[in-house]
Amino acid sequence: MAPGQHVPMSTTSTSPTNLLNFDLPGLVAYCQSLGEKPFRATQLFRWIHQRGASDFTQMTDLAKSLREKLSTQACIEGLKILTQQESRDGTIKWLFDVGDGNAVESVFIPEDDRGTLCVSSQAGCAVGCRFCSTGHQGFSRNLTTGEIIAQLWFAEHFLRRHLGTSERVITNVVMMGMGEPLQNYAALVPALKTMLDDHGYGLSRRRVTVSTSGVVPMRERLGQDCPVALAVSLHAPNDALRNDLVPLNKKYPLAELMAACQSYLAFAPRDFITFEYCMLDGVNDQPEHAQQLIDLVRSHGQGKAWCKLNLIPFNPFPQSGLQRSGHAAVQRFAQLLVDAGIVTTVRKTRGDDIDAACGQLAGDVKDRTRAAERMAKQRTISIHRAR
Ligand code: SAH
Ligand code: SF4
Repeated sequence: MAPGQHVPMSTTSTSPTNLLNFDLPGLVAYCQSLGEKPFRATQLFRWIHQRGASDFTQMTDLAKSLREKLSTQACIEGLKILTQQESRDGTIKWLFDVGDGNAVESVFIPEDDRGTLCVSSQAGCAVGCRFCSTGHQGFSRNLTTGEIIAQLWFAEHFLRRHLGTSERVITNVVMMGMGEPLQNYAALVPALKTMLDDHGYGLSRRRVTVSTSGVVPMRERLGQDCPVALAVSLHAPNDALRNDLVPLNKKYPLAELMAACQSYLAFAPRDFITFEYCMLDGVNDQPEHAQQLIDLVRSHGQGKAWCKLNLIPFNPFPQSGLQRSGHAAVQRFAQLLVDAGIVTTVRKTRGDDIDAACGQLAGDVKDRTRAAERMAKQRTISIHRAR
């Protein structure tokens, strides 16, 4: 210990354990450490995730002695909300404080037949894609399992109260908020398992999507540990261009990425992988890029249809120096893919009046001047019926 350094006094008090950090097996182990049977953990898990409880005194079917034990040693603590905004189209964006001047965002996107929550996995992102405002901020830190699941826990129960329903509101989760989920694997997997757990949110594997810029080894592990739907952020049909747009490509180039996508098909809940392709004016949206993309997909598919292409209109932000492709360029590009037999969709942009569209999530509030400006603009506003 360095001279003059403060020596902490020994103390018996420890901070309470936040139960949002546990998937069900984790909660079973925790309850066992308190001398409780596994079914108590299941009851507790249901109170937390199915009923949105944050107060042990509510949990009347748990023995009073257990409730008392829990209230001295544990807590159920969500994230602090900095702002909440609703778009004209019903999209709702929350900015959550994760401490040390960092914030992350979650976005709820209501549609006729589903409600999707877009969830963040990191404060900032280390991958540094050129077209992504999160990437331009750099990396602050990984979120914990509790911070990932707290976004769903809060949004689901807020929306139920708000809509006056006891039915499930969020039917789909996409890990497409801030951060690269597969670079926060250890925290991600228990959060995904909680989403899928019948005692938790009970979402099917098809309705939980991990989006990745291509962390190849972790994708193989995801297939073994928790094979949810996979979306891969492709954005370029050749290595030179992808190295420039998605720097992770230098580590895991396209041939490796495509092979890993193919092998994920053995685990995927659907018989295809989704590729996301952000349309950048004059950069990756020309007919020759479409042709290279067709060749790339064909060279890995053994003659079978094995992927879908989702074209995303670029959501511009000032520092990128990039522009959104024009409508005609997107249509021409999509048509070339369709003519080659590749299922192709063009993503509708949602919530862009509140900067809630893909790649516009910029929740890092380290730059406090900008944060103050942004927060002044983003006052909590009244919410009306979301769907
Ligand atoms: N890190 C993961 C998930 C978060 S990004 C990933 O890269 O897949 C979610 C999606 O938004 C990705 O497909 C990403 O490429 C896309 N995206 C990022 N910035 C964008 C922007 N400015 N406009 C449109 N899409 C963007
Ligand atoms: Fe990170 Fe995804 Fe943004 Fe790339 S697109 S910087 S991987 S969040």
